[in-house]
Amino acid sequence: MNYESFFQTKVDDLKREGRYRVFADLERCAGQFPRARRFRADGRIQDVTVWCSNDYLGMGQHPAVLAAMTEAIERCGAGAGGTRNISGTNHYHVVLERELADLHGKAAALVFTSGYVSNQATLSTLGRMLPNCVIFSDALNHNSMIEGIRHSGAEKHIFRHNDVAHLDELLGRADPTRPKIVAFESVYSMDGDIAPIGAICDVAERHGALTYLDEVHAVGMYGPRGGGIAERDRMMHRLTVIEGTLAKAFGVVGGYIAASAATIDFVRSFAPGFIFTSAMAPSVAAGAVASIRHLKGSGIERVRLHERAQRLKRVLGEAGLPVMASESHIVPVKVGDAHFCKHASDRLLDEHAIYVQPINYPTVPRGEERLRFTATPFHSDEHMAALAAAMTETWKALGLPLISTRHPAAAE
Ligand code: PLP
Repeated sequence: MNYESFFQTKVDDLKREGRYRVFADLERCAGQFPRARRFRADGRIQDVTVWCSNDYLGMGQHPAVLAAMTEAIERCGAGAGGTRNISGTNHYHVVLERELADLHGKAAALVFTSGYVSNQATLSTLGRMLPNCVIFSDALNHNSMIEGIRHSGAEKHIFRHNDVAHLDELLGRADPTRPKIVAFESVYSMDGDIAPIGAICDVAERHGALTYLDEVHAVGMYGPRGGGIAERDRMMHRLTVIEGTLAKAFGVVGGYIAASAATIDFVRSFAPGFIFTSAMAPSVAAGAVASIRHLKGSGIERVRLHERAQRLKRVLGEAGLPVMASESHIVPVKVGDAHFCKHASDRLLDEHAIYVQPINYPTVPRGEERLRFTATPFHSDEHMAALAAAMTETWKALGLPLISTRHPAAAE
């Protein structure tokens, strides 16, 4: 086989479909978020405004987080030095797990190297080890959950997105004696809609299923202490496992689960994705502790995030841009075509110094291609006005349809 030509053909297919991913070469500027420096292919350096960061609250540059990380490096050095079992557990990991258990009102927590790994490792272990397990998975679940479920080898049923009646129907058809897992997310990050956690727990409890909730796009941002949508909805106690990330609102990197002591001990003891990998750097754990502690006690960032997101939806909507309905802080603007989506993103970056990554298939279904904006507490009214002007120019330049926003009664 000609391996090189096989690889090249596959990549060329992506380019033809407009789905080839080009990474923006950026340097984030601490203290100046959402500003970044872009290293262009032509050798020039360009100042850009980042509009698609998942550092939702700007905690990645919070002074308390930076100070904690610097101090931890000075105390412990750079790496963890091993897997958690073989010399890699550092006191910062232990403190972080206590902090996370407390955040979610659970007895224990377990930290992984990323949110992706936490989903993949936990779901594959639960599905593989619970005897004759059957898993019920929301149709829009993240790839990390899908891969974990697939890897478990367990029987899987997909329920229509956020459709509790369909979940109930599927659970009702399963053998009542078999162990069951219902896996879903709270905030779905591409559409910005939110799961009916209470109703899903009702159904799961009725059928004796355990519940697994991914709160990756909610932790830090919802709930009185940043415990996520389940905290906001007073549902944390009803969920068997709550999973989250340290890489988005908490501004660092890593993932975790929080659950009962027995559940955590089980995953800790049997999940290869936890056992056979080096522990996260102690400085990262220290930064995460500082970030979580700060957001437990401070609601200012959350209030400002939601105010900014609401304003952005309004500003873009008033400019006639096709803002998609979203119940959360996510602001998606529909393009509906992979090539146009890429062109719009390129033009915004090259001509307007605005960085927003195109979201194409398979992240969203074909025909649902979009630009996905995240307004953080650090995006000002001026940033928003500049974005609306740049988007309008781009939409016109590419011949994309704008929505008429003028009310007939207001006609001159
Ligand atoms: N779960 C969901 C719903 C996600 O969107 C993501 C990443 O974007 C992850 C899990 C993985 O989290 P991490 O980036 O920490 O690996």
